[in-house]
Amino acid sequence: MHEKLAAELARIVADPARVLTAPAVLDRLSHDFYWYSPILRTRLADKMADIAVQPSSVEEVLDILHFACEHEIPVTTRGAGTGNYGQCVPLEGGIVLDLSLMDKLEEITQDGVAVCQPGLRLGVLETEARKIGWELRMYPSTLVKASVGGFLAGGSGGIGSVEHGGLRDFDTVRGFEVVTMEDPPRAVLHEGEAVHEILHAWGTNGVLTRIWFALAPAVEWTQATAVFGTYDEAFRFAESIAVDSAWTKRLVTVFEWPIPSFFTPVQHVVRAGKSLVLVMVESAQAQKWRVLAETTGGEVTFSGPYSGPRTQPLLSDYTWNHTTLWAMKADPSYTYLQCGFSATDCREQFRQLRDRFGDEILFHIEFMKNGDGTVFPGAIPVVRFTTEERLNDMIAFCRSIGVYVANPHVNYLEDAGRFRADNIQLLAKQRYDPRGLLNPGKMISFRRREVVR
Ligand SMILES: Cc1cc2nc3c(=O)[nH]c(=O)nc-3n(C[C@H](O)[C@H](O)[C@H](O)COP(=O)(O)OP(=O)(O)OC[C@H]3O[C@@H](n4cnc5c(N)ncnc54)[C@H](O)[C@@H]3O)c2cc1C
Repeated sequence: MHEKLAAELARIVADPARVLTAPAVLDRLSHDFYWYSPILRTRLADKMADIAVQPSSVEEVLDILHFACEHEIPVTTRGAGTGNYGQCVPLEGGIVLDLSLMDKLEEITQDGVAVCQPGLRLGVLETEARKIGWELRMYPSTLVKASVGGFLAGGSGGIGSVEHGGLRDFDTVRGFEVVTMEDPPRAVLHEGEAVHEILHAWGTNGVLTRIWFALAPAVEWTQATAVFGTYDEAFRFAESIAVDSAWTKRLVTVFEWPIPSFFTPVQHVVRAGKSLVLVMVESAQAQKWRVLAETTGGEVTFSGPYSGPRTQPLLSDYTWNHTTLWAMKADPSYTYLQCGFSATDCREQFRQLRDRFGDEILFHIEFMKNGDGTVFPGAIPVVRFTTEERLNDMIAFCRSIGVYVANPHVNYLEDAGRFRADNIQLLAKQRYDPRGLLNPGKMISFRRREVVR
């Protein structure tokens, strides 16, 4: 059966070597960082595609989807496979569509819009953009590996979001071409508001094949760290930077102790028992930042230039969801949540969580800007895992006190991500993938309708 599938796909792509069947390769291409979740770890380990194919053009994507549509074969799109929640794990076998070869940066326009293919790595785009005075507005801490298409389809924000909001905000995603799973498939242009039909839909309602991604003017950044005696002091200092528009910043992060003890390669910036603040601020403001840290009880432990993704140490490697990775390396019983605290009541929310869960939850804050311009404490707290029930208790308690939670321990959009109440992603799926062949099982509100041929 798989031999027949391989032979058919080999007829579609120009080079048959781009049809992959080796079990070890299929295993790798069928998985991402789902194992961050102790719950998904057991559920998704044995899920595997039947075959993988690496198209190199939109024409090949159209032909592969046409073939899959005719034969009712599921297709799961893959960028670099750095997603969490098993976003690109094929639940029903079929074809993995690996877009890593479609990685061209076509141009950066005069007004700072990158036009690219989906497999382009964000780190390459950041490097190329900075050469001509532009840079990414925001990027995940997986910058070096992650693809632009995977970020738009699976990510939400990251370094830069304290200034530029999430991917869905401020017209950052200008447009894209999306290949549908209609019979026959089409390449359709989505621009303006229409991007939200496909954005962060995990490849369940189309395959992004060309992207228009707005950049920001490049800034000369300094990465810096300071330690504070208590979490409260560290948070107060970080918040004062994050909410004040006079600071030009790309990253404002707070880790309560003992999270900094997990960062083994950069222990020189850590002090035992102290909370750590990590920032990227404009180099012209670095001295002012140092003075503020020192006059508010902090000790500055590091300050150095950011010169692009190859900077060493690259301090963003300890932020966003990399923090969880370091925690799990130190103690495999740790896992995480993805939260948004209230901009006004967060201290009371911290207190209630501390009272109820003690050191089962460790605060890791990433300040972010909302689409309405409000800066608030986003968070990826490190959580000690005992049972699924206890984890669900914590999630329910967070929600009961007004803390937003995107649950990273389920692998369907409706609870894990930013499924939209206006249902436009579902409506797009009904239109573009009526047979439910794109990444099946990840949009659970979708019901296949009888398709008349
Ligand atoms: C250590 C670590 C840190 C992380 N930090 C962050 C962070 O700071 N911010 C953040 O937002 N995320 C973060 N993530 C999640 C992930 O790295 C990012 O979302 C990343 O941008 C995903 O890119 P990728 O190319 O690896 O996508 P993949 O994992 O390959 O795919 C992600 C999803 O998008 C779909 N997809 C991929 N390409 C396409 C396409 N062309 N068309 C349609 N669908 C497509 C896939 O089917 C899948 O559902 C982190 C993950 C890890 C493991």
